[in-house]
Amino acid sequence: MSETSELRGFAALGLSRERLAAVKAAGYIEPSPIQAAFIPVALEGHDVIGQAKTGTGKTAAFSLPLLEMMEEPTGSPQALVLAPTRELVQQIEAEIRKLARGSRTRICAIYGGEPIQRQLRALERGVEIVVGTPGRVIDHIERRTLRLGEIWHVVLDEADRMLDIGFRPDIERILRRVPDPHQTMLLSATISPDVRKLADRYMYRPVELNLSRDEPSVESIRQCTITVDQDRKFELLVRLLEQEKPRQCIVFTRTKKGAERLAERLARTIAGVATIHGDLPQSARNRVMQGFREATIPILVATDVVGRGIDVEGISHVINYDIPDDPENYVHRIGRTGRMGKDGVAITFVCPDQGQPLTAIEMLINRPIESVRIEGFEAFRKESASTPSFREIWSSVSRSKLVGSS
Ligand code: ADP
Ligand code: MG
Repeated sequence: MSETSELRGFAALGLSRERLAAVKAAGYIEPSPIQAAFIPVALEGHDVIGQAKTGTGKTAAFSLPLLEMMEEPTGSPQALVLAPTRELVQQIEAEIRKLARGSRTRICAIYGGEPIQRQLRALERGVEIVVGTPGRVIDHIERRTLRLGEIWHVVLDEADRMLDIGFRPDIERILRRVPDPHQTMLLSATISPDVRKLADRYMYRPVELNLSRDEPSVESIRQCTITVDQDRKFELLVRLLEQEKPRQCIVFTRTKKGAERLAERLARTIAGVATIHGDLPQSARNRVMQGFREATIPILVATDVVGRGIDVEGISHVINYDIPDDPENYVHRIGRTGRMGKDGVAITFVCPDQGQPLTAIEMLINRPIESVRIEGFEAFRKESASTPSFREIWSSVSRSKLVGSS
């Protein structure tokens, strides 16, 4: 190895010694492409738009400069991070805490579904970084328990998703109250026309970083579809789980009811099944997420709203029990696996009459998805002999888990 004075990796990005130590303690060795691009620009104080696929480290990309730019703690919030769901807020809070190691910056997560008292107390004690869902943030602003007078930095994480689920009015109300000048960072997997509009209106000459084109994240995921009759889906799922023995798996359904019912039925056959969806009380969602993170729950049945953004390292498989209505959601769902370049498998169940949504997905990801079948399993009534079997396709590339041990 040659001696060189040139800084590389995280050290080249302009971070302080303390932050580099925290990065090291977090176990991050090399910055991901979005981190390498985003961090220096954010540190210069520019408004920044960062576009990169899921699982590429966008949280640290904005959290590290944020932590670096905190002034002496005054107890008044200096940064506000908005994210679409409670689970994401909790995840972001945890990541910031990890990276805040050694600093005096205090962080507080605010989200609905849990008694407001704990959050009130934390805000009262004084915090520098607030992470919250737009709805709960508005709540606190209106109660005057959250003051935006000293906010210097605003982060809109998963901006596309926040707009999808109708947070535009809340976001705009919040942004209008943030004093000028301030820095706005926007992170998104996709820059839809809606996201564009938000950026045009509320950002000042943003630097745009688009890392989504050459980012291999989704390419490291092995994708296939299985054609299956609606009434054979359950049996197929059980077969697949037995055959694949996933380390951890998210099974996506279209509706909350569907998730509930599927989880219930599955739990009668297989151990370690739980469900998470928007109708569950927050305490239950927390319990399930914790179990899933700790891998005591290997199989999670989820809906899109909650499933998106979940970042659990052990996820080896994503199964789309119901094909997503919106092709964008396909990309987000399968992005739950194959995080940071790890291998992942994404299997999508397609009913014989669902060629149209499948084509929409294939057009979005710009390539056909291989259709496979399970050996010895009649998944639909007019099975064509030409479809290769699951085993044939994957056995050449599989880890032992993929097709079982035989
Ligand atoms: P995104 O927001 O782009 O979907 P996340 O910020 O959730 O991605 O990061 C995905 C995972 O990668 C997390 O588990 C995170 O801790 C991890 N991670 C982030 N940056 C690095 C890095 N430089 N090296 C290794 N792992 C990282
Ligand atoms: Mg993210």
